[in-house]
Amino acid sequence: MIERIATTKKTKEIINNHAFTFQKRFGQNFLVDTHVIDKIISGARISDDDAVIEIGPGIGSLTQLLAEHAKKVIAIEIDKKLIPILEETLAPYDNIQLVNEDVLKVDINRIVEKENDGKPVKVVANLPYYITTPIIMKLFEENVPIESVTVMVQKEVAHRMNAVPGTKDYGTLSLAVQYYADTELVANVPANCFIPRPKVASAVIKLTKKTDRDTAPEDEKLMFALIKGAFAQRRKTVINSMANSGIVDASKEKLLAALEEAGIDPKRRGETFTLKEFIRLSDCLREIM
Ligand code: SAM
Repeated sequence: MIERIATTKKTKEIINNHAFTFQKRFGQNFLVDTHVIDKIISGARISDDDAVIEIGPGIGSLTQLLAEHAKKVIAIEIDKKLIPILEETLAPYDNIQLVNEDVLKVDINRIVEKENDGKPVKVVANLPYYITTPIIMKLFEENVPIESVTVMVQKEVAHRMNAVPGTKDYGTLSLAVQYYADTELVANVPANCFIPRPKVASAVIKLTKKTDRDTAPEDEKLMFALIKGAFAQRRKTVINSMANSGIVDASKEKLLAALEEAGIDPKRRGETFTLKEFIRLSDCLREIM
């Protein structure tokens, strides 16, 4: 068995041998806990049929185990200083493709087309916190062929993505993610599992892409405007929050008529609305606009 990279001893050895310095701007916190890596691999249900895209491989701690379980791994890393390190730490594996790019700028659809004949891939990542939401939304909005996204994110963000209506964590992020995917919390990960230690706790969440397009509204843009409008002033009734937000391009009268048509009490708060109710409201409003 090849030595695991995700231990404090091995990670420090690699960093010292290469005189590597951590780049704060790239959110570099490397995992040094093999149990957490094992939980990510089993949570993502990686099998030897899978092609996996890893975002931000770092020094290869997670990449190594992905390569051992998957058919193929495409690892996208922004920091060019990590490429020679990865070439060395991952030398024993012949099923890894390293891509030195910024994941936010690269055409992921083209990578999937080239590396997996356009067939769905699984995405796995320990993400830099400052780009968590843009990366996840890019994957879903650009309709990249993916089966699931299993990611380490800030604990609060994971809880917001996973939240149900009527809870304090429920909001625009919950609905944006749950519109595209079913969510499942895989593990909570304390700060001492990383070098350097981040200031916040983390969690791994699995987002499994929905295949049921029956749940889509006629007009996605309108539905997302309604969601943003409903949460613009959380403490207000949905009708006042939406009408005062300046986000929804419809008069208060039209919004009231659409709520009535959808069978929704306008005095409710947005935070009690299910995704299905936002879809129904959006379709009713579109009818009368
Ligand atoms: N996967 C490694 C681990 O678990 O130890 C490293 C995780 S570290 C939190 C985030 C990684 O993402 C770093 O290697 C960083 O250089 C890389 N990264 C940051 N921004 C990126 C971007 N825009 N595109 C691709 N990789 C990025």
